[in-house]
Amino acid sequence: MEVEPARKYIYPDTEIDRAEGEAIEALKARSQQPIPDPDRWLDEELHRNLLLTTVDSIIDWARRSSLWPVVCFPACCAFEFITTAASRFDISRFGMEIIRASPRQADLMITAGTLTWKMAPNVKRIYDQMAEPKWVIAMGACAISGGIFTSSYSVVPGYNRIIPVDVYVPGCPPRPEALLYGIRMLHQKIAKRSLAQKG
Ligand code: SF4
Repeated sequence: MEVEPARKYIYPDTEIDRAEGEAIEALKARSQQPIPDPDRWLDEELHRNLLLTTVDSIIDWARRSSLWPVVCFPACCAFEFITTAASRFDISRFGMEIIRASPRQADLMITAGTLTWKMAPNVKRIYDQMAEPKWVIAMGACAISGGIFTSSYSVVPGYNRIIPVDVYVPGCPPRPEALLYGIRMLHQKIAKRSLAQKG
């Protein structure tokens, strides 16, 4: 007696059904594992590349990372400033190494030295011509209060008599480390600014 061979498919043995069955079996064979989520990479990329911040924070970061000092070195504290700018201490790490001869291209005045009343109008004019927003660091005893010359008829007893001062760095003269600390304090002050404030 002739034995009927085992059927390969569960579908009816007609050509059209066999073709359909083969397609289904092939799809089934390819579908044993779930398809990976095509957006799975997104989390990883977002974690690596997306930074959420506020407009205030990003603008304050840009401002404090690119302070440009103007030339204002009327006396001996200037040499400590020059040392601060040189390679051993190096203010270029703060993006400050370009000392501007033009006040219109500067936003930071570091008042390194004794100021006389004769020079005061010129220093005030330089400050007035600086770009907004702008800041002032009073460097040394003379800049803060006139220092050892405070009782002199010719010396301004502190730059804050003619321009607003943001940070005071004491010393006669202050060492470069002290000036760097003052610059870091100014960075913190700038970081607290808001666009809602003037400038
Ligand atoms: S604080 Fe001292 S070092 Fe600086 S300008 Fe005055 S006298 Fe000179």
